[in-house]
Amino acid sequence: MQFLQNISLDASTSLKMPATAAWYCEASSVEDVQEAAVFARDKDIDVLVLGGGSNLVLGSDVPGLVLANRVAGCEINTDQSVLGAGENWHDFVSKAVRKEIGGFENLALIPGNAGAAPMQNIGAYGVELRDRFISLQAVNLSNGELVTFDPDACQFGYRDSLFKQSRDWCITSITLHPSNELRLEYPGIRSYLDQHQLEPSHENIFRAVCDVRKSKLPDSASHPNAGSFFKNPIVSLHRGEEFSRRHPGAPAYIDSQGVKLSAAWLIDQAGLKGLREGEFSVSDQHALVIVRDGARGMAKQQGSSFEQLNRLIQRIKDKVLELFGVELEVEPTIYPD
Ligand code: FAD
Ligand code: NAP
Repeated sequence: MQFLQNISLDASTSLKMPATAAWYCEASSVEDVQEAAVFARDKDIDVLVLGGGSNLVLGSDVPGLVLANRVAGCEINTDQSVLGAGENWHDFVSKAVRKEIGGFENLALIPGNAGAAPMQNIGAYGVELRDRFISLQAVNLSNGELVTFDPDACQFGYRDSLFKQSRDWCITSITLHPSNELRLEYPGIRSYLDQHQLEPSHENIFRAVCDVRKSKLPDSASHPNAGSFFKNPIVSLHRGEEFSRRHPGAPAYIDSQGVKLSAAWLIDQAGLKGLREGEFSVSDQHALVIVRDGARGMAKQQGSSFEQLNRLIQRIKDKVLELFGVELEVEPTIYPD
């Protein structure tokens, strides 16, 4: 495997932040990942693992090694599927649906690669990765050891896991099981099926999710973005009841953790759609999405891109806290943190 120097990362993330990697490699196997771990240890530099770049905000150059995970492999079977970390997630979901293997259709069109899916326990339309998870393999970047993780060891939470909290691991493969359950409770799916007079089935849910997502979310090819910029806040039952009393009609969902509020609703109600700082603004199309669509020239007058983004994040958090007493938490990985 080649270790390259001074590689541009400008096109490596969906937010298209300008950045350069001091060192860069593309790992196609577990052995390549282990070789990268040794290389970084010998040079005493940190490793940043890169998948599809759809949930990563690069706020500066990377002085260490960027390890682009390209580990391939996609075995889809009726009992389980094993995916190399470098496989595109949506390609897997599409292939599974074509093979009439259910359980993944609600997670269609989530950008990025299979290896990053456990990172934040990806979820959409009522299904999370942990609902279909058997195990994963990951290389410990500090000693090169290959370790198998079961669901408990991954410490999955709402858009969270052990791997989101620690940079020590490079996931190399994941193993998932199918499911026959049809998850239809999200209004977007249900109304799509009704409107198109489609019977609930894995294939029709896949179609609904793909069409609804295309119509609701800004396209990152033309409007660089990192998906939802904030997690939905989860508050205690008591605070949730108080919130609902003050804001009747606001979305609030009770689950085992407490009450989940809608970050999109909070931002929208605060009148923040369209709010801009330099190159960045809150999408007019979806309040949870920050798009990088401004003229490049503005960066010079108003600080670096990252400074502008941080100002926008702070303004959104401050306003939501002031109006609703709720703290928003950023969802994507911010580098450096
Ligand atoms: P990257 O952006 O490359 O990396 C994200 C983080 O994971 C980084 O910290 C990186 O270091 C780490 N990482 C990547 N690969 C590995 C690995 N193999 N081992 C260890 N660490 C690794 N997310 C959802 O949950 N639900 C959605 O519905 C959803 N919709 C989205 C829609 C849009 C338009 C966009 C832009 C994003 C959306 N996301 C969603 C977020 C994103 O797609 C997911 O988090 C996805 O899993 C990120 O994959 P990636 O390969 O692009 O990761
Ligand atoms: P939506 O369907 O308009 O719903 C708005 C919010 O309400 C969502 O955040 C969702 O929470 C919650 N919600 C709706 N119905 C629910 C139910 N029956 N039970 C529990 N929670 C419910 O949302 P959207 O913005 O169009 O997104 C659709 C799905 O795609 C969501 O699951 C969302 O998480 C996912 N998505 C994620 C990203 C990302 O980058 N993370 C980007 C785009 C879309 P949840 O978010 O917890 O599901």
